[in-house]
Order: sequence, then C-alpha cells, then structure tokens
Amino acid sequence: MSNEPFVIIGAGQCGIKAAETLRQQGYEGGLVLIGDEPHAPYQRPPLSKAFLKGEIGIERLMLKGDDFFDKFNVDSHQSCHVSSIDPAAKRVKLTGGSDIAYSKLLLATGTRSRRIPVPGLELDGVHYMRTIADVEAISAALKPGVRIVIVGGGYIGLEVASALRHFDYEVTVIEGMERVLQRVVCQQLSDYFHRIHTERGVTIHTNARFEGIEGNGRVERVRLAGGEAIEADIVLMSVGAEPVCELAAEAGLKINNGIEADHSCRTSDPNIYAAGDCASFFSDRYQRHIRLESVQNAIDQGKHAAGAMLGAEDVYDPVPWFWSDQYDIKLQIAGLSQGYDRIETEGDEAENAFAIRYFAGDRLICVDAVNMPRAHMMARRELAT
Ligand code: FAD
Repeated sequence: MSNEPFVIIGAGQCGIKAAETLRQQGYEGGLVLIGDEPHAPYQRPPLSKAFLKGEIGIERLMLKGDDFFDKFNVDSHQSCHVSSIDPAAKRVKLTGGSDIAYSKLLLATGTRSRRIPVPGLELDGVHYMRTIADVEAISAALKPGVRIVIVGGGYIGLEVASALRHFDYEVTVIEGMERVLQRVVCQQLSDYFHRIHTERGVTIHTNARFEGIEGNGRVERVRLAGGEAIEADIVLMSVGAEPVCELAAEAGLKINNGIEADHSCRTSDPNIYAAGDCASFFSDRYQRHIRLESVQNAIDQGKHAAGAMLGAEDVYDPVPWFWSDQYDIKLQIAGLSQGYDRIETEGDEAENAFAIRYFAGDRLICVDAVNMPRAHMMARRELAT
C-alpha cells in the first residue's frame, strides 16, 4: 500500500464517523480530514429544533470532544476548501494553491440548501437553514413582531415553523404542491401536520406558486403567482437540498443524483469513495439508486466506507430511518414510502399516537410513527427481514 495518507473531504457527520472508524478498525497510516466550515464537526438536526429555540448552545452540537483529533491522530483542516481533485496524480488541491497527496480518498461533501432561480434572493432578510452560521443569522434577525415566510413545506420548513411559533412569531408557510410533505408522506399524514400547524397559529398556503421576493434592499414581501403578496420581514428558503458533487464531476466521476457509488461506497474511480448525503448507491432493497439525507445514513455509510477503504467487501443496503420533531410531536420514519399503493393505520390520531404502514402489493415498505417509538423500532426490525 502507498505511504500517502487517506484523505476525507467533508468534516460533517459522515466524514468524522469514517475517520473514527478507520482508527477503530486498526488503520495506522496518515489520516487527513478537510472541512470548509469554521467549526469542528457538528450535528445538524438540532439546528432547526433545539438550537434555533435557544434550548441548547453550540457546544451541544459538537460531535466530538476537543481531544478527538489528537487521540485519533487525525490531521484536521477546518475552514479549508478543496478546489479540485486530480485522480490520475492522486492529489487534492486546496483553495490557496497547496495540495495533498492521497492513497485513498473519501468524498463526504454532503448537501447544500437548494437555490432556485427567482428574483429577490439577494435581499437582506433572505435566509437558509443548513449551517450554524445560518441559524446565527436567523436568530440575529428575530426581533419582536417580525413576520416570517417559509418557502417550502417539507420537514425542515415545518420544523422551523414549529420552533418559531414557540416564540409566538407570525409564521406563514408557502408550499407549491397540493399538500405539505407531499413528496414523503401520504395524504393522511400531510393533513395531520397541516392541522397541527394551523391549530398552533401557522398560516399555510398550499398550491402556492412562489414567484420571488420583493423589497427595497431588504425583504418586504413574497410574491405569489396571480398577484397575491404576503408581507414579510424574514424569508426562509427551504426548498430542499442538493448534493455537493462538483468536485467529483470535474474529476470525471459518475454522477447520478449524487456521486454514484457501489455497494462498497466505491465511485467510478477505484481509489475514491463517497458516502453520506452526497452519495447515490444502488439498493437491492429498493431496486434502484437511492441517496439518503439522514443521520442514520451519514453514520452507517461513513462506517461502511471506512471498512471498504480497508478492503472489506460487505454490501451496504440499510433500512433507512429518519425523524422529525415538531411541537410535542416526534415523527419517526422507517423505510421509504415511494411506490406504495395502500396504507393501514394503527393507533389513534386524535390522541397524537398513531402509525401509518405503507405497502407495495403485499410488501411492507415504510412505517411513519407519530409519538409511537415502539411501533418505529418494531418496523425497523420488520423491514430488515
Ligand atoms: P454534511 O453534514 O452536509 O457535511 C458535509 C461537509 O462537507 C460540510 O461541512 C461541507 O461544508 C463540507 N464540504 C463540502 N464540500 C467541501 C469541499 N470542497 N472542501 C471542504 N469541505 C467541503 N437528519 C435526520 O436523520 N434527522 C433529522 O431530524 C434531521 N434534521 C436536519 C435538520 C437540518 C436543519 C438539516 C440541515 C439536516 C437535518 N438532517 C436530519 C439531515 C442530516 O443532518 C444530514 O443527513 C447529515 O448531516 C449528513 O451528513 P454528511 O456528513 O453526509 O454531510
């Protein structure tokens, strides 16, 4: 094996797990972790929940203690952006000009908030929800009486709505589809979350065609098709995330709604691996390439990629799981619901404790459990078999 180090690009949940696993599995060579954020690796789920509500401080977001890098002998580069990869020379170039050689490379570059081409995104008062810096900017803008419009009724948009209603801010969600969470849950669950939010004071517009943001230097209103305008002081753009794949694409790696990887997280270059939010892998379970944006996948695939970098050949094909916290409701999702043709409900929606089971033919493919952790755990076991 070459003497050059293993290099990991992306110091998020996946990159740090891969670094830790490499050491735990006995890798003793050089190990470089490069991340372009100014923080040590941190967890993102609390950003739209407890951290935004001020219930926890920044130290509770950190994934590892200060001594991790020394203890695990990881050469960590923070605030350091990789600008290109030369797969033939096996080197990565950093912004600023220096470069680092690698023997094996892991891409754990994650996702970024999707930008859509609409007017007004440059105005003061337009925000995103992906990083600590994003939350700090939103928190600084929250003054008594501000009106917030959230563009996008997906999980993150609704979590932010719930966190901001905690402080009694005026919150409006605009969603282009017929119902909130339409891409990921059935009508019954969309209707449930719609009701939960409106009962708690959120105004929701569905089927709303968002045309842009207007204002003189700063946000004053959101414009919808048909001429309707919603007055706003802050706009949160929450229209999904897109995989960070430019480095991989420019290096000639195959891209397929993410960096294409095989069962062992290997990309189309045998020395380069991809894992976490940025990676698209073939799932036997779902018979298609899938890309998962979840903590479960970032951790499990980071571990798996580390094993593969050390020569393991196991197949990565997990039961995906995810959660979302809104008000006093914990939604836990096991599996993927796309392609279902019928549902069954158990529990009691009126008591805010129920589960929806999604089937494709006779096969159970997903379970959404609302305040029913036991149903969630059982579903994960059931789906695994
Ligand atoms: P990331 O966390 O995105 O880390 C990638 C890192 O790579 C970033 O720091 C990025 O800046 C860096 N990077 C990219 N390109 C370069 C480069 N060229 N050079 C150097 N560094 C680079 N999941 C759940 O399961 N449950 C939840 O409740 C949940 N809530 C969430 C709430 C929010 C607000 C967000 C944003 C995400 C949430 N998620 C949740 C998703 C979960 O956080 C992600 O799936 C997970 O963080 C992915 O980890 P990752 O390491 O693959 O990517």
